[in-house]
Order: sequence, then C-alpha cells, then structure tokens
Amino acid sequence: MIKGTRVGIFGGSFNPPHMGHLNSLQTVIKKAGLDEIRIVPAAANPLKVKVEGPSPEQRLEMTRLALSGWGDQFVVDDQEVLRGGKSYTIDTILNLRKQVDANDLYLILGIDQLQDFEKWKSVHKVITEANIIITSRPGFHFPQSPEELPPFLEKEVLEFDFNFIELKTGRNIQFIKLEDVVVSSTEVRKWIRIKKNVSKYIPLAVEKYIRENNIYASPGHRIKDYEKFTEFCANQLFSRKAIAVRGFDLRKIASPSEFTVVASGTSTRHASSLAENLMKAVKEEYNVYPQSVEGIQEGRWVVVDYGSLICHVFYDYVRQEYSIEKLWAEGKDLGLLDPDLKK
Ligand code: ATP
Repeated sequence: MIKGTRVGIFGGSFNPPHMGHLNSLQTVIKKAGLDEIRIVPAAANPLKVKVEGPSPEQRLEMTRLALSGWGDQFVVDDQEVLRGGKSYTIDTILNLRKQVDANDLYLILGIDQLQDFEKWKSVHKVITEANIIITSRPGFHFPQSPEELPPFLEKEVLEFDFNFIELKTGRNIQFIKLEDVVVSSTEVRKWIRIKKNVSKYIPLAVEKYIRENNIYASPGHRIKDYEKFTEFCANQLFSRKAIAVRGFDLRKIASPSEFTVVASGTSTRHASSLAENLMKAVKEEYNVYPQSVEGIQEGRWVVVDYGSLICHVFYDYVRQEYSIEKLWAEGKDLGLLDPDLKK
C-alpha cells in the first residue's frame, strides 16, 4: 500500500452479511472518495451477547461470498478471525497503521454503534489513529450539535459543522446519509428460521451457503423436550427471585414459538441479570446459546429466543404497561410454581 491511499475499515459480525452492509459499502466508497475498504469480520464482538450460529470462519466465508466479484477496492480482511478471541478495533487499526497514515484511515460506523462507542477499548486512541465515517441507519438521526454526541466525543470537538467535525486529536468525523435499507442480521436470522423468503435481503451466494451448510438451523437436537426445557428455564428464573413467572404451551394457537415464559425483575438491573443467569444456566445444562437476545442492556423487556421457546423477562413496571399475557390467553397456562415453595 502506498502513502496517500485512502483506506476504509468496515467491521462487523456479518452474521450474515446483508444488503444493508452492501449498500453502505457502495455509497461510502463513492461519497467519501476512498480508494479501498477493508471489510473485517470480527471473531467475537466484546459488546454482543453470544448467540447460536455460524463459526467465525463461516461468517468470514459468507462475507467473501457477499463481495465476490466486487473488484479489488473491496478487500475482505481475515485478521480478526485469525487473531481469534475478542476482537478490538484498536488492534486492527494499529495493524493497518503500519501501512497507512492516520490521516488516510477511515473507520466506518453505522450510527447505531455510536451509543456504545465509549465502551470500546482504547477509544481515544481509535479517534487519534483513524478518522471516523458515521453512516445513517433507519430509525436513528445524526447529531445536530456537539451536545448530541456521546460525552467523551463532545469533549474532543474542535469544530462542529453539521456533516463534518474536526477533532482535537487531529482527525475528523464525517456523516454520510445512506439510502434506507431496512434490514439487520438479527432479522435475517429470524426470517431464515421461520422459512420466510430472504432473497431480497441477502446475496444469492450467501443464501445458498446458508442453505447448504444448514447455518441457522434450530439447535432442537440438543433440546429434546421443549416442555421440560420451559420448566428448566422457569426454575432458573424462580431461583434468582424473579416474580410472577408464568409459562404457556402455545402449540394449539398461532404463535412464533411453541412455548413461552414470562417473568419480571424488580428493577431493570434485576431483569438483565435474570436473563444473563438464564443464558448461563442453559449453556451449562444444554450447551445451547440463544438464537437471539434483545433488550439486555436496557433491561426493560429482554427477549431471549431459544427457537421453540421464547423467554420474556421484564422490569415489572414495563410488563404492566404491555400486559403481554393477553396474547397467550388462548394458550395453555402451564401453572408453573417455584420449586422452593412446593417443598
Ligand atoms: P445484528 O443485527 O446482529 O446486530 P447488524 O445487522 O447490525 O447485526 P453488523 O454486522 O453488526 O450488522 O454491522 C456491521 C456494520 O454495518 C455496522 O456499522 C452497522 O451499523 C452497519 N449496518 C448494519 N445494518 C445496516 C443497515 N441496514 N443499513 C446501514 N448500515 C447497517
């Protein structure tokens, strides 16, 4: 690589890669005038809960398939997968810095990543060693003033000019508006599991690879009896002082799962820790990770999806707002009881 080449870094889980990613790459390379973008699948994202699914090598392969035939401006970079363990963007940046000037390096982030940005390892170094490109994502808006930035970034602003920020670190942040492509990997995984057609959302070659390798199949073979599994999950929740734990058999009604458990914590912290403990216990007993987890950081309404069983863990106050149990009134109430009280 020669001095003066402008290089973008586009990291992600790519679990799986989808049209939202591809649209972003195509737009950013043009609008930011980059010479090359490195697409870097993470081995493990330190800020994401581990879910069932493909190995890092399979995600890398899907990313290669998604970009095959795209030309040499788009380079799928395997360094994070090869390093293994938790992937930290700073390590990738410092690696590329051996060949590229900080001024010519551009870290591309969807705006959804901004909310967690300050939790990143060595984040100050990140904004010193590379410029940042922030792209739009449906449902989010760009900050209109420095006060709308995360506090650590606000402190670093030298000049704020709407779509362009000069940072005190010598680098800059630019904002690029993309055409809205409403899709996420989480949704694609869900759609594949319920056999919905996803050809509009992922490249054909990726779809074929997923089908041939049975990538997002339900881990049903490790959970033989879902009714027992439902009870197991409920008991984990009871043992951590969850309140109003209820379970339903939904096999006779139209529902996205066959069983469901709903429980509450007395605070958002309690709800998050109930869900974390549940996932840990299921991993130990069944060697299964959830298929997806939503809302764990906020702890208001955490949804842990085990395919045929979906667990809803609420902060009790929020549960009352939604009265979600009404949805399952036609299902069979499993009449779950705290094993400690049965004794
Ligand atoms: P998940 O649903 O598993 O959290 P994701 O769809 O957000 O995944 P990642 O692989 O984590 O995908 O994202 C990589 C990068 O692509 C991030 O910077 C993210 O903001 C961006 N991105 C993902 N989906 C879109 C989209 N639909 N439009 C624009 N950018 C997107």
